[in-house]
Amino acid sequence: MALVNEHFLKLSSGYLFADIAKKIRVFKVTHPDTDIISLGIGDVTQPLCPAVIGAMHKATDEMATASTFRGYGPEQGYEFLREAIVKNDYQSRGIRISKDEIFINDGAKSDTGNIQELFRWDNVIGVTDPVYPVYVDSNVMAGRAGTLIDGRWSDIVYIPCTAENGFVPQVPPERHVDVVYLCYPNNPTGTVLTKQELSRWIDYALKNDVLILYDAAYQAYITDPSIPRSIYEIRGAKKCAIEFRSYSKTAGFTGVRCGYTVVPKELTALTLDGEHIALNPLWNRRQSTKFNGTSYISQRAAEAIYSPEGKRQVQSTIDYYMQNAHKMLDCLRSLGFKAVGGENAPYIWMQTPEGCSSWQFFDELLYGAQIVCTPGVGFGPSGEGYVRFTAFGTHEATDRALDRIDKWKN
Ligand SMILES: *Cc1c(COP(=O)(O)O)cnc(C)c1O
Repeated sequence: MALVNEHFLKLSSGYLFADIAKKIRVFKVTHPDTDIISLGIGDVTQPLCPAVIGAMHKATDEMATASTFRGYGPEQGYEFLREAIVKNDYQSRGIRISKDEIFINDGAKSDTGNIQELFRWDNVIGVTDPVYPVYVDSNVMAGRAGTLIDGRWSDIVYIPCTAENGFVPQVPPERHVDVVYLCYPNNPTGTVLTKQELSRWIDYALKNDVLILYDAAYQAYITDPSIPRSIYEIRGAKKCAIEFRSYSKTAGFTGVRCGYTVVPKELTALTLDGEHIALNPLWNRRQSTKFNGTSYISQRAAEAIYSPEGKRQVQSTIDYYMQNAHKMLDCLRSLGFKAVGGENAPYIWMQTPEGCSSWQFFDELLYGAQIVCTPGVGFGPSGEGYVRFTAFGTHEATDRALDRIDKWKN
């Protein structure tokens, strides 16, 4: 008899973006001629840059000839890409990471979920709240979350990040955690942690044998040079943190699929007997068994981001999105809204007016200005009373959207 993993049944069927899509469909039925602008999209809109496209064409041509054709590549990724990462993402910032600490993958979403296979089911998981839903739902599937009561999983430790604490997660958290997910620059709040704030997490992790899962998917959006782009900029982090990176938001790879995970060699976790086990060989074993590598074409595409033209072109697209972010922030603040983010991240996190819930504001904005945002409560209980705007639209759509919001409020 095949028995199902009943933890899956605990997950709410409605994924946040499915609920939003439903509301939009209802609106369209009653307002068939209205055009809606989305400031809720979590996908990029600008095409791949010429350096990347050139590399992909070249890699494709190589696949057409027997002598240059590539079949299975190394499960950990090709050396050419791992070397480019070591040199450009780490050495250039004074961080010593070796190429066998880098594991190329098909994006950060997979590995932020997959990494849990290395850890027992009874670890206590901590998340900042609001949170990227993947961290929570993937732990629900693994049976680590307990039961859902009033929007909170009983066994997950929620670390609130709200206007009251300046969106900085408290260290140590109220309850002890074994594994904690930190995502900076943050999705959904668009906020960052200073070196000092992040150092406190490292101190806590080192003293208490806590593992930090650090999602740096948005590091390319950091403009303030004092903000750490990698957790390994802080001493001791290699002993307590795994870092996830992605080319999705960095270079528009949401459809190409490529990212990487860093598992330092000195990083360990404990057996019940208190023995320290290195995680790098464990992850290598896991990947070699369950993953057959990212496509050669995607990896050549990623390598091209590190060429001088690639760097320039990628930066210009990031600047394009950040122009949207700055305009949005200015507009919302000038209308009297309280908003954060948008300075080192492509997200703006806005407080709804007093007494107005996330979903109420979503409806008001949709019906009043035909603009879609993302209700903050969809990212966790501490997201109630907030909405998220993204800067991934075109300039034209963003300008029109801000115009409409301005007219709606005045
Ligand atoms: C978009 C995003 C990612 C990237 O996911 P990919 O699978 O690499 O496309 C990872 N983490 C967060 C928080 C994100 O918002």
